[in-house]
Amino acid sequence: MRSISIFGATGSIGESAYDLLIRSGGAEAWNVVALSGGRNISRLAEMARELRAEVAVTAYPELVDDLTDALAGSGIAAEAGADAIARAADRPADWTLSAIVGAAGLPPGLRVLERGGALALANKETLVTAGRLVMGVAARNGAQILPVDSEHSAIFQALGAENIDNVAEVTITASGGAFRDWPLDRLEAATVAQASTHPNWAMGQRITIDSASMFNKALELIETREFFGIEPEKIKVLVHPESIIHAMVTHRDGGSIAHLGAPDMRHAIGYALHWPDRADLPVARLDLAALGALTFRAPDETRWPALRLAREVMAAGGAAGAVLNGAKEQALDDFLAGRIRFTDMARAVEAALDDLTRQPGFTTSPEDLATVLDWDQRARQSAAGWTARHGGR
Ligand code: NAD
Ligand code: MG
Repeated sequence: MRSISIFGATGSIGESAYDLLIRSGGAEAWNVVALSGGRNISRLAEMARELRAEVAVTAYPELVDDLTDALAGSGIAAEAGADAIARAADRPADWTLSAIVGAAGLPPGLRVLERGGALALANKETLVTAGRLVMGVAARNGAQILPVDSEHSAIFQALGAENIDNVAEVTITASGGAFRDWPLDRLEAATVAQASTHPNWAMGQRITIDSASMFNKALELIETREFFGIEPEKIKVLVHPESIIHAMVTHRDGGSIAHLGAPDMRHAIGYALHWPDRADLPVARLDLAALGALTFRAPDETRWPALRLAREVMAAGGAAGAVLNGAKEQALDDFLAGRIRFTDMARAVEAALDDLTRQPGFTTSPEDLATVLDWDQRARQSAAGWTARHGGR
């Protein structure tokens, strides 16, 4: 039996992975090692019991008693806190899904790569904040990273065994999110509830808002660059409202191979789970005749300044990815709390980048986790400073 761990099991990606495990035999078919979650203790305990996990971990130390109670009599260990999550990642497992949201997903993912494990990576922040470090640790330890972000899974599949030198261009698509068709002058007043709806994908709230601001696509541009080692100029974004084509690889001879599928993350998760094989997955088959037409438009950088910031970050390299992400996470917290407006998020991130560019070491890629987390903290402080000066308008 293959052994499996899931970090962020109670989130949107985690639930989709759980669904795939249950449908393919559950505890009878999979040896589940560790599951982690956040505040939803009852759901975490329910999943751990159903899959007969060895250990369940909540990110919050104050909830350890609740988790212990919820797991009473099951024989499943209950642990809590970021260190416990990292320790759980050290437990041997054949396949680990990284599905925590935010930079908090980086430490356990790195631990998996350090022990040479296979890491299915939904947590895009891992490569955005520490791409050079993460790819180096994976290479040194013979660890396999399997992309789970749908665009990156699509590139991975379209690329196949092709030599990366034969690739002229990689295109990732974007639905355009909640505000794709809004008049620009209404964006300033967009509310959290409005930004938290997505036309095609059902996802966690943070990535849904990031889709509306295009910070999600900004992160994905950087993720593409780091994972595939493709030059930034070769990576394109195409707005594709139907979300059927997820990515396209164009070769030097002018031919393009696109990856199509229903917008359902169980495809990318299931592909990574069964790689290099394929399995039957509970994903709707495409009916292109019923769809009739697929449409495309060029991205508008006035509407979505996050795309320009991603280009600047890729050009800068060094700690820029960690700074962009940390500042974005803080700005998103500030938007969620009503301290800044929707359009202020990009302003706060740009200010943090301007601010930290001047600090010593910015142009050096972080070589260890502590350095990444230090830039992450400085970026959050800088963005929080922007909110303190400009928020509450
Ligand atoms: P989510 O908010 O639905 O779930 C996040 C999970 O992480 C939950 O289990 C939560 O308890 C846990 N978590 C939150 N903060 C934590 C912390 N500080 N420490 C430890 N655990 C914490 O998020 P999601 O939509 O499932 O996204 C997860 C990751 O996958 C993100 O990086 C996202 O960008 C990426 N991703 C998601 C989708 C999608 O369809 N949802 C698609 C592509 C990539
Ligand atoms: Mg994606």
